[in-house]
Amino acid sequence: MAEICKISYPESELFKSALQIVLKVRNAGFEIFFVGGAVRDLVLGNTPSDIDMVTTALPQDIYRLFPDSEMVGACFGVVLVKFEGFVFEIATSREERLYNDGRRPEEVTFTSDIKKDLLRRDFTVNAMLYDPVAGDVIDHVGGLQDIKERVLRVVGVPEERFGEDYLRMLRAIRFAARLQFEIEPGAWETVCRMAGLCRMIAAERVRDELENMLCNVHAARALKLLKASSILSIWLPEVDALSGVEQHPVYHPEGDVWVHTLLMFERSGLVQDNLLAWSILLHDIGKKPAFSLGCDNIPHFYGHEAMGADMIPAIAERLRFSRELAGALEHAVRYHMRFASVMEMREAKLKRLMAEKYFAVELELHRLDCLCSNGLTATYEFLCKRMKSAVKLELPELFLNGSDLIKLGYKPGSLFKEILDSLLDAQLDNTVTNREEAVRFVKENYI
Ligand code: ATP
Ligand code: MG
Repeated sequence: MAEICKISYPESELFKSALQIVLKVRNAGFEIFFVGGAVRDLVLGNTPSDIDMVTTALPQDIYRLFPDSEMVGACFGVVLVKFEGFVFEIATSREERLYNDGRRPEEVTFTSDIKKDLLRRDFTVNAMLYDPVAGDVIDHVGGLQDIKERVLRVVGVPEERFGEDYLRMLRAIRFAARLQFEIEPGAWETVCRMAGLCRMIAAERVRDELENMLCNVHAARALKLLKASSILSIWLPEVDALSGVEQHPVYHPEGDVWVHTLLMFERSGLVQDNLLAWSILLHDIGKKPAFSLGCDNIPHFYGHEAMGADMIPAIAERLRFSRELAGALEHAVRYHMRFASVMEMREAKLKRLMAEKYFAVELELHRLDCLCSNGLTATYEFLCKRMKSAVKLELPELFLNGSDLIKLGYKPGSLFKEILDSLLDAQLDNTVTNREEAVRFVKENYI
């Protein structure tokens, strides 16, 4: 017997549009409900950011009712309906059977029994229905009770369900962290036992799950669970290895490198930028290979930034990062220590630094790095002040270009870059302020 609980949905444009869809589909003679994350969030008192639905209508029925829709996974019965500026994922209720490879179902059958669709979903809290006309949450799987007890429970037998789709183990960790729920002990024990199978998951899916965990206020908890289950050692052994890498107690009173990394996530609040999230996670991975003990028994990490940066391409390839993310991440790791010397930097160098594409992200990384170790914020404050007073952060246009240099009698070649580079420095330093001075500068310095 289903448990039913009345909850009125908070008024919003999203809800009004969703309600209209429900009415139209029901008028055409089909069943349709909200399902999944939106229902879970509603019961938890959070405002859902999107609404998925499950229906007995077939994809082509939905397409007929809403011509402005996209059949994204018609064979899985999923249609994206664009309606009043919102996009709704509407799935035909289905059963999935025979997962042979732990990645995708071999067979999908549509069913007119929506309850069966709920049984293929991952966790009880994600497998409830909401009827927006009656205002009823309809729970066939015990999700309401689990929300009350703050337990993440698998629908069915954990070993079977995780075995069907290994990604569910990562999802378990993501939801447990994000919702601040405990994973039901039997399910947790199964995750720990079956963790090795996670190496079979497609890298892109793992990357997206991990990124989703990191870009969340409870990222540190997710990392702890990833480590405890040993999934971290499979996909990111470089990060797993950071625990036990002891640091100087004066510069790093917080503890070892792993503790320092977690603390940065704890104190960062919600990290929305994926580059920042990955940078926090990976900025100190070079400390493990760079570790040395001084004769005074003090740990040193000479060159850990470069060592860490050199480790990034392999990680980027493993997790299929975009080229842009991989490059920006490698840069952030390689140069994360240069902030320590900004106060002594030449004006030109400082301006170049502040004009870099990802400067704001790297500055935030620096701020968190300090906040979670020595607590010194002078450099950060200095840079913030400088940024506020800067009229323009982009680099200025050069007074001379390549063809000007040719006219001045220089031969194109590697010297051009050198000349233009030093001219840029001179402009940034304000020693060259117009075209004439630029010509003089070049002639005097490059005979
Ligand atoms: P979020 O707020 O993160 O989007 P969500 O619950 O909506 O959370 P989705 O990944 O959008 O999660 O999936 C929607 C629903 O589809 C889930 O609530 C769950 O019922 C089901 N689902 C998604 N992925 C799986 C999976 N791998 N195995 C079983 N069910 C899944
Ligand atoms: Mg969702």
